Amino acid sequence: MSKDTNADADVIVVGAGFAGMYAIYRFRKAGLNVKVLEAGSDVGGTWYWNRYPGARCDVPSIEYSFGFSPELEQDWHWPEVFSAQPDILAYANHITERFDLRRDIQFNTRVSAVEYQDEQNLWRLTTETGEILSAKYCVMATGCLSVPNRPHIDGEETFKGRTLHTGLWPKEQVDLTGLRVGVIGTGSSGVQAIPELAKQAGHLTVFQRTPVYTVPANRKAMRSEIEATFKENYADIREMQQKNIGGVSNFSPSRINSSETTSSDKRNEKASEPRSVPTIMTLGKKAIQSLIDERGLGVLLGFRDLLTDPGANEIANELYRENVLRQVKDKDTAEHLLTEEFGFGCKRQVLDRDYYETYNRDNVSLVDVRNSAIQCITETGIETSTGHTELDVLVYATGFDAMTGALTRANITGRQGKPLTDKWVSGPVTYLGLQMQGFPNLFTVTGPGSPSVLCNMLVAIEQHVNWIADCITHLRDKHIDTIEPLASSESDWIQHVNEVSEGTMYTAPNCNSWYLGANIEGKTRIFMPYVGGYPRYKTKCDEEAEAGYPGFQCTSS
Ligand code: FAD
Ligand code: NAP
Repeated sequence: MSKDTNADADVIVVGAGFAGMYAIYRFRKAGLNVKVLEAGSDVGGTWYWNRYPGARCDVPSIEYSFGFSPELEQDWHWPEVFSAQPDILAYANHITERFDLRRDIQFNTRVSAVEYQDEQNLWRLTTETGEILSAKYCVMATGCLSVPNRPHIDGEETFKGRTLHTGLWPKEQVDLTGLRVGVIGTGSSGVQAIPELAKQAGHLTVFQRTPVYTVPANRKAMRSEIEATFKENYADIREMQQKNIGGVSNFSPSRINSSETTSSDKRNEKASEPRSVPTIMTLGKKAIQSLIDERGLGVLLGFRDLLTDPGANEIANELYRENVLRQVKDKDTAEHLLTEEFGFGCKRQVLDRDYYETYNRDNVSLVDVRNSAIQCITETGIETSTGHTELDVLVYATGFDAMTGALTRANITGRQGKPLTDKWVSGPVTYLGLQMQGFPNLFTVTGPGSPSVLCNMLVAIEQHVNWIADCITHLRDKHIDTIEPLASSESDWIQHVNEVSEGTMYTAPNCNSWYLGANIEGKTRIFMPYVGGYPRYKTKCDEEAEAGYPGFQCTSS
């Protein structure tokens, strides 16, 4: 119960992924009474739901971890450089126990309505079971990739086999031994799952609509001396993250430890600006191929002109094609695995473990649904324009209704009962991805219009939760009743968000990504995250707070 009102808490947070978890810790520190409502039966969000074989992060775990507790940083051990889902979920559970978070979380509770009560200045939340809770502040920590997208395919209800979605994978072991498995989708989830499913299944058929650009992931175990060096330098790593466009320090223990490295080199390496490095255009195709031979296709991602110079992007594409054609034995399959329709950088970069090699297995086949369109699902499999594939299990790796899906599904209504879906009919409108005008005292964590999915998400989450906690503290100390953005702040910000995305690979006319909402039928095509970089964004947020929130309208009774 909140001290100030007859509400159930000072703040109700929806979602107990990393954002909701950190919110409990941080809001408690600010002296706030907090209650979290979570649809799942435990913490972890993404890492609770996405248990498919092969699921893991694509940011080094030392970096994809919380920075708020130096003791936690020192105590936690990551077994691999890029951790697998079970280890990330174990980390989430460790944090929950270490900071005694569970007592403020109500699990198995899906929120079905979030309504502002004008008279009482309270947010009223209704759960799917009809329970009603209220609080002065509401924080939507509902995730950017938490609403699985399962496209409708005719006949889907007739399928007699088992249907799974990578984003809703069962907790119990799924035994696919000897079974005929079909996978629809070759984004990050599909690419991670396909090699693992192929090892288990009797036969695996991949239904691919758009080929993917994927490069081999770092698959190293964490070596103790490297881990020790990282841990010694954690304070610097966190500082470097704050200065990096994507919230990643790129700290390199080998360079820091090198006896040949001078102290001025060290200073350079710690600075956020990369030193002058060769580009694709200056180095040329032959030299880059030698680098690929030495270190793999991932070297292509290291070139700064890859995403800014169409000529460089084209050379990278040629190299990519040539190398994939060499890896996949069946030339027809290899050709189908490649695209010329769009370049690197339109979609989120995918990292894999043995993706292309998997197509060399006898028990794997590829159906290119651009040439062989899916017509319907039958009782026993999938019918395409060129034939029928018999299946025992069908796996949807078809992604998410990203960034806005969880918010629009929560049925949020603001002042005078105005639905958020009306406000967002032409795409999401927010100020800094943190608040919406007409929805006082409601906050979103990593909302559209913030760097969120273009950033190391744990860095983005900590920054947002800290900002919200400081804002609520300010309101309480100054006896302010409500805060919401000025209409002009919102429109100026959205204009800026659009401007910085124009001319980038992300918004190229031939690019159809979930960043643009293009994966969901009927969704407005608009680039949703902020591409101007995390440091620039954070500066803007800090300036607002330091100046007493001039871009917001506050009311007091
Ligand atoms: P989530 O973890 O999505 O948690 C949101 C929670 O809100 C969920 O548990 C959900 O059940 C709950 N919820 C939603 N709506 C409601 C409702 N109406 N009522 C009650 N509860 C609700 N990011 C990176 O930076 N690096 C990575 O390597 C990376 N890998 C990823 C891999 C996968 C497979 C996926 C899907 C995403 C990945 N991400 C990655 C993004 C990832 O989502 C974030 O890193 C982070 O985990 C998000 O945390 P969150 O708490 O904001 O959201
Ligand atoms: P995704 O990137 O949206 O990929 C979905 C796949 O399903 C695409 O290949 C898509 O094809 C296909 N698809 C969708 N509808 C289809 C239909 N009707 N018929 C045929 N194919 C269809 O989703 P995701 O792979 O789940 O990844 C989403 C995001 O989650 C990632 O971009 C990343 O941010 C995060 N993630 C990260 C990791 C990681 O490595 N850490 C792993 C998994 C997920 P089209 O391209 O043609 O639409």
